[in-house]
Amino acid sequence: MGVPLLDLKAQYASIKHEVEPAVHEVLDSQYFILGPKVVELEKQVAEYSQAKHAIGVSSGTDALLISLMADGIGEGDEVITTPFSFFATAGCITRTGAKPVFVDIDPVTFNMDPGKVESAINERTKAIIPIHLYGQMADMDPIMDIAKRHQLTVIEDGAQAIGAEYKGKRAGSVGHYGCFSFFPSKNLGGAGDGGMVVTNDDALAEKLRIFRVHGGKPKYFHRVIGGNFRLDAIQAAVLLVKLQHLDSWTESRQKNADTYRKLFTEAGVVAEKGDCLKNGCANWPDCEIVGSDKVILPDDLDNRRHIYNQFVIRLDKRDELREVLKEKGIGHEVYYPVPFHMQDCFAYLNYKQGDFPASECAAATTLALPIYPELTLEQMQEVVDAIVEFVRK
Ligand SMILES: *Cc1c(COP(=O)(O)O)cnc(C)c1O
Repeated sequence: MGVPLLDLKAQYASIKHEVEPAVHEVLDSQYFILGPKVVELEKQVAEYSQAKHAIGVSSGTDALLISLMADGIGEGDEVITTPFSFFATAGCITRTGAKPVFVDIDPVTFNMDPGKVESAINERTKAIIPIHLYGQMADMDPIMDIAKRHQLTVIEDGAQAIGAEYKGKRAGSVGHYGCFSFFPSKNLGGAGDGGMVVTNDDALAEKLRIFRVHGGKPKYFHRVIGGNFRLDAIQAAVLLVKLQHLDSWTESRQKNADTYRKLFTEAGVVAEKGDCLKNGCANWPDCEIVGSDKVILPDDLDNRRHIYNQFVIRLDKRDELREVLKEKGIGHEVYYPVPFHMQDCFAYLNYKQGDFPASECAAATTLALPIYPELTLEQMQEVVDAIVEFVRK
């Protein structure tokens, strides 16, 4: 029958009666840029994220860029992040004129390995960007501790993680800046591009608001150079409707993750936890990760609220499985196939293959499966059956 990776039409059908009047209200008002809808969304996202302030911006990418700019990061500075993320994380660092410095991920969570951070710090280091990949927060306590000792800024890339928690703290509220994306495929997706920066710091919030409008304050008087980073009212109107549903959608995603776990376990194809990963991908690329008849399921760590923007399994022969899934019309994707240090545009950083084995292993073995809230049991069964048939072959 086939299963899509994401079915936004199914979601829209359930909220169309709420979204349409909200959008029409904006059209009738002819007030399109910033304005009361954006202010209301900022208030609600700040509250939702346990942060004092929220500043609506034009995308998740711009949320990262404006945070770096507001922090004064530029030429001669270094910013530490991991090589395993969506391109924007590293792209934004470079766009300020600063140099991205990579540290490897933890092979189990795919997030920044805090144990690798300290040795990457030098006198030029200004900030750390941990990414909450797939909807599960990075190990923030040790990262904040390192940042404090070295007086570094922490910018959380929470683009995939709005509402995720670490020890009861929400994504975005732990670092100095928290960045969210409202790209349609994110858990809280708009009707186009949009993003948000949250912060607990009054002065940083004020700075971000000024940088959002070209750095003018008062209007037409510029002490700094910002950009057009504004969020528009139609996005805010749609997002305000969807935010009220976010927790129930998150619960459905978590339930779907539990269902996948149950189905894969019943089929007897689940690798022992940490089977191959206990040596930290040290043998990559010469290891067989779990033996070709097994899959590794994503870890749902204690003390975290995983919001499952993606449900990502790992297996040997990932690319062969992709061919089979493609034939059967089963949606899947690789997030992300090329780690930053192997991207052509970063050749000037002089990294080489083998520098970040856990990231390289993840890029070669991970596969995201459909996990969206409206997914049915029958659809999940179809996905699992196809994968089980492949690994048993
Ligand atoms: C989506 C995403 C971004 C960028 O967000 P946009 O709204 O698409 O600009 C940044 N970082 C990560 C980890 C993302 O997943």
